[in-house]
Amino acid sequence: SKVRIYTLAKDLGVENARMLEILDGLGVAYKSVSSTIEEDTVELIKQILEEEGAAQAAPEAAQAADAQGPQAQGSAPQGPAAQAVAQAQPAAAQAVAEPEAATAEQASSEPAAREIPHRAPVVTIMGHVDHGKTSLLDYIRKTRVAAKEAGGITQHVGAFEAKTSKGRIVFIDTPGHEAFTTIRARGANVADIAIIVIAADDSLMPQTREAIAHAQAAKVPMIVAINKVDLPQADPERVKTDLTQLNLVPEEYGGDLIVVPVSAKTGEGVEDLLEYISLTAELEDLRADPKGEFSGVVIEGKVDKQAGVLATVMVQEGTLRVGDFLVVGESYGKIKAMTDSAGARIKDAGPSTPVQVLGFSAVPASGEKVQSAKNEHAAREVIATRADVRRDEENARDRRRNPRTLEDIMGPVGEVRTVNLILRADTQGSVEAIQGILARKEGEDVKINVMLAGIGAPTEGDVLLASTAEATILCFSVTAPGSVTKIADSKGIEIKAFRIIYELIDEVDRLIKGNVEPVF
Ligand code: GDP
Repeated sequence: SKVRIYTLAKDLGVENARMLEILDGLGVAYKSVSSTIEEDTVELIKQILEEEGAAQAAPEAAQAADAQGPQAQGSAPQGPAAQAVAQAQPAAAQAVAEPEAATAEQASSEPAAREIPHRAPVVTIMGHVDHGKTSLLDYIRKTRVAAKEAGGITQHVGAFEAKTSKGRIVFIDTPGHEAFTTIRARGANVADIAIIVIAADDSLMPQTREAIAHAQAAKVPMIVAINKVDLPQADPERVKTDLTQLNLVPEEYGGDLIVVPVSAKTGEGVEDLLEYISLTAELEDLRADPKGEFSGVVIEGKVDKQAGVLATVMVQEGTLRVGDFLVVGESYGKIKAMTDSAGARIKDAGPSTPVQVLGFSAVPASGEKVQSAKNEHAAREVIATRADVRRDEENARDRRRNPRTLEDIMGPVGEVRTVNLILRADTQGSVEAIQGILARKEGEDVKINVMLAGIGAPTEGDVLLASTAEATILCFSVTAPGSVTKIADSKGIEIKAFRIIYELIDEVDRLIKGNVEPVF
């Protein structure tokens, strides 16, 4: 007769999660812990558990199984009993250290691969100045961070965790797209969802467009929060219509953009906003393995007069533990202490957790990727690998500057080539005129992607945006300030200025040709 998995687990005195791992090892399909299994399988499981008991009694055997664990996962079962033992052991050992390892999620796992648990979404808030980004973050922090935590002197660590009925949501605490793009410019992606805040009395403004461009370039899903709906002059409908002009169509107009009216002052709609964040996160199916190899990103770093170098790290994969060695760039340090975003001391931190870390030898820059190593020797090895990767990247960059092969110039054969542009002009009229002409230049094999079209001189943010997508910045009747030119030079981004529209268009033609007709 058939037996339910959880009943068997209870009868045999093992954890449900462990039972599922044994089943995975055997290649047995199940939907959840309430699925039934055949009698034959039950016998096999009993046999495995017996063997496991014997292995535990013999320490060398247990060690061997342990060492084999991670590699053995997911491979085809050979000698089912021994294999399952090898898998079950390390998992069981880790489960003790990691209460977050979501037993419930494993219970509903797909038959084939062992399920990677869901993780909390990381959200960034962007938008025009004075539209209420800081107020919205403050409101969420005040109402969603447990009172005793918020009551203390909450240090600004660059991120905080909000508790909602649908689970944790992590907010990046530095509003604005500069922080977002600084991180992205180093090749890291931290935010899963971008909230674009638009004031209901002001509608779309230049920085709103920039924020949208940055989120789009990062392919991060957007939710629009129309803020200040408490004001008498609020006009949320106008905001929605204006969004439509950017090809962002709100759901109620038949599109797929989620738009939520809120007030950071009264709190109206904030609950809905949090729900939509959770819903979007669910659709994105965000997952990370707390048992996997650690990787994280620096949110910000600073020097504290008393403590020394402090840095906030967002854990993206795996688990970070006090005592681990951290590798940032080509230097390393040992974690002496960790606190969570509310200032409480913690010993370990899993995915989507911002932690403040003490133990870096130098202040790391935001956006730098962090890896961990078990000891100093391993840390040095990571650094050696990084140095190799960096040299490879440098060589690749040199190749792009001095193209040698057709592929270097054209990119992979057979793909539609994309010319990425950032457009800056003196008036909305010229922006539209140029965009109109550019649209006609698109062909079957060339796509012109205007990442951002804005009024006024190019900014530092534009350069960072350009560097994430290898875009060219074209200016019409505006010039870049010296500081911006300098950053562009250092990043190898071209800023080209024109006073005559057709000269600008000629330049676009050259960019298109450069992409399709290599000159040897
Ligand atoms: P930020 O520059 O986008 O971070 O904007 P702030 O959060 O600093 O807000 C700018 C101004 O708008 C401040 O004076 C806030 O008090 C005000 N403000 C922000 N949100 C609201 C809101 O929902 N309603 C009203 N009436 N005022 C708001």
